[in-house]
Amino acid sequence: MPRPLLSLQSEALRAFLQRVARPIDFACRNAFAHLGTVRNLETFVAAQVRAALTELKFPRAIESDLLGLQHLFIGFHSALTPKQQRERLTQARTLLSHLQGTYLQLERNNEGGGEQTYRDVPGVHEGQPLWESSIQFVKGVGPKRALLLQRLGIETIEDALWNIPWRYEDRSKITCIKDVTPGMTATLSAEVVSVRATRSRVRRMSILDLTVDDGTGRLQAVLFNQPYLQDLVKLGTRLLLVGRIVTGQQGWLQLRIDVAHCEVIEQDTEVTLHAGRIVPIYHETKGWSSRQMRVLVRTVLDEYAARTSEILPLRVRAEHRLMPIPQALEEAHYPAGGTDLAALEQGRSAAHRRLAFEELFMLQLALANRRRRIREEHKPIRFDPHTPLLQRLSQLLPFKLTGAQERVLREIQADMVAARPMNRLLQGDVGSGKTLVALHAIIMACGSGCQAAVMVPTEILAEQHFANLKPMLEELGLQPTLVTGGHRYKGRAESLRQLQAGTAQVAIGTHALLQNDVQFSSLGLAVIDEQHKFGVLQRKTLMDKGYRPDILVMTATPIPRTLAMTVYGDLDVSIIDALPPGRRPVRTWLFSDSQRGRAWHIVREQLEQQRQVYFVYPLVEESEKLDLKAALQAAGTLQKDFSSYRVGLLHGRMSSPDKDRTMKAFKAGEIHILVATSVIEVGVDIPNATVMVIEHADRFGLAQLHQLRGRVGRSAHQAYCLLMAPAPRRGNAAERLHHGEEDVSLAQRRLEVMVKSNDGFLMAEEDLRLRGPGQWFGIRQWGLPEFRVANLLRDAELLQQARRAAFALIERDPHLKAPQHRLLRLAVERRWRMRLDLGSVS
Ligand code: ADP
Ligand code: MG
Repeated sequence: MPRPLLSLQSEALRAFLQRVARPIDFACRNAFAHLGTVRNLETFVAAQVRAALTELKFPRAIESDLLGLQHLFIGFHSALTPKQQRERLTQARTLLSHLQGTYLQLERNNEGGGEQTYRDVPGVHEGQPLWESSIQFVKGVGPKRALLLQRLGIETIEDALWNIPWRYEDRSKITCIKDVTPGMTATLSAEVVSVRATRSRVRRMSILDLTVDDGTGRLQAVLFNQPYLQDLVKLGTRLLLVGRIVTGQQGWLQLRIDVAHCEVIEQDTEVTLHAGRIVPIYHETKGWSSRQMRVLVRTVLDEYAARTSEILPLRVRAEHRLMPIPQALEEAHYPAGGTDLAALEQGRSAAHRRLAFEELFMLQLALANRRRRIREEHKPIRFDPHTPLLQRLSQLLPFKLTGAQERVLREIQADMVAARPMNRLLQGDVGSGKTLVALHAIIMACGSGCQAAVMVPTEILAEQHFANLKPMLEELGLQPTLVTGGHRYKGRAESLRQLQAGTAQVAIGTHALLQNDVQFSSLGLAVIDEQHKFGVLQRKTLMDKGYRPDILVMTATPIPRTLAMTVYGDLDVSIIDALPPGRRPVRTWLFSDSQRGRAWHIVREQLEQQRQVYFVYPLVEESEKLDLKAALQAAGTLQKDFSSYRVGLLHGRMSSPDKDRTMKAFKAGEIHILVATSVIEVGVDIPNATVMVIEHADRFGLAQLHQLRGRVGRSAHQAYCLLMAPAPRRGNAAERLHHGEEDVSLAQRRLEVMVKSNDGFLMAEEDLRLRGPGQWFGIRQWGLPEFRVANLLRDAELLQQARRAAFALIERDPHLKAPQHRLLRLAVERRWRMRLDLGSVS
């Protein structure tokens, strides 16, 4: 029976939204931090729209949305300024969320089997879930204000409820006029005894000049620019005034209050929104103040909070002493009198705890669920742990595996032998020998008659792995093949043919491996190296291609525990916790420009001992060209300074064959000094290089610095990492500017950590502490969920509890089938399905 058109439409639309939202969301995330790295949006969006429109006939309204979307990106990279780009992206998001609403509508029509027509998403009506109810239809909002609110991330009623204040002000204590002193912020409750309305001479601001009396004394009160109060404030009106007490012309003898907030009160005891209580302070945007937000939130709380469904199971709430959701929302916005202000400000009040718990619990539930699904899968292949190839491999290796390598290898092999697919993260500091462990897994797969794929983030690394592994693989009778991007690679067609025919057993390549024309005859294992560089990548991508391989994800970026639980919460983890024997810690020094001579001395000394040197220059996206120029110039200068040695240059804009040639020459020792941009950041393994000089080290993140340092110290020779950075000048405005918002002293502290420590895990914790989870290097690429209330640094303990509770629940009710878990299941699907599919590995 043919599928009904409606379900095809909704499916196609869903797939379209998933694909298109991904790069757009990525570009928008964290205040457009990645905008500079996003490429080809114009062609991408156009192609997607074209594909969608040719695939199916959609209702007119959808088609025009789709075309509108395409339109937004015309000339995106070639003709728009960054500011325009940001505006377009914001508009695109609005369009996408509109389409998303349409999709949900289609879905619902589907389920009801009902009407075949596309309708605009209607106003708020009884029974419509709050996350689908546009804020636009709330009393006092409307389409214009809805746009303002969107800037604050508020599109639905649910968003408004969860938009909790970023701080609070205790305006509950009423001060007596006789007790006010200059400098204090006071809340007064007093009666108007004189009124005078004027305008300021300079900017024609309206000024309301009052005298108020509260029975203990009189005070002048000045209200700027609040003309609407003129009609309200009369002699005898009782006012609640919040403001700063300042001295007038006669000093202490004539105090006045500069009123920040004024409200007419009917009775002294009346509790209002803006004063006389602990008042919530919200993020503002131009045209929408914290005060307006208070009114909006009050309305939304009154009308809808009670309709918020309680999704946490009773048992979990009881166990963790969590208050009902409507109460938590009420108290997070409008705390009861006497609530501990410090706890509120830090987000540690009982209400905050309840809300944060829910967010963390939901995420962990999604992760637990995904893990369960993988565990229930059966893989068609059974790998042979006794393949003779493994024996032969150990004879080929020039050294013994370390104890740590042996241990993780056993864990990996146990996974591979098991009936369910492997989904494992291998963590090991830079230089700990992960490649070798992966090689064993590859050999085991090939020895069992399967193919294996190794995916790496850069072409340089692909070439390197290929060159290193090829001899050994061939010795074992296996045929490796290289698959990198585009058509530059001559042998590509031949590679693909061999993979499809199964005559090549090991594919080594970049993300080009995921392209449609790459087909395997029997893919059994996929190794993803330096995963943190990939960001969005999924086991699902491979499964969509029809494979269910075992997955081994490797990363040298150590992940603090709390983050690991979040980002990699559904992977099994193996850790290589020791380096191969004979390694000496890299000696790290920090030099300012005036100490350059000392750095050069070390470089020269090492060159004289036949060692090689890296010079790394930062590549900052906004000024790629400038930095490139800096690197080019530096290469010239260095060639003069070290005229008896050969200097090579490597940067991201070079063609792959050129890069390849340079790397080979460096590896062969024909180039002694390699000047590079951070393209060599990951994976590169040239043991004879012993010095890493990092120019402008202050511009790199800690994890990145650690990765760069990891390029040296890969043999028994003593290695050096020389960090070049301007001497810290605290408070220098120009420098601040250069660093954007970041404090100069933060950069300094990072460098100090580098000098002190060689331990990646320790550094990761330190980095997390210095920067906070949102900023933590690379984390956004991993698709770390953004929380509205929870904070991973603050809530580490709560995360543990939520994780235990979630995993225990999935244990009890794996599919959340029990009637009391129905709402929970729906909520998990809704909140995380899209993001988890889009934003993470496995
Ligand atoms: P990473 O974990 O950073 O990917 P690599 O796999 O590149 O590290 O290994 C770093 C270096 O250590 C390589 O030169 C490799 O040959 C060497 N190595 C790996 N395992 C051992 C071992 N067991 N004994 C001695 N050297 C080893
Ligand atoms: Mg590596």
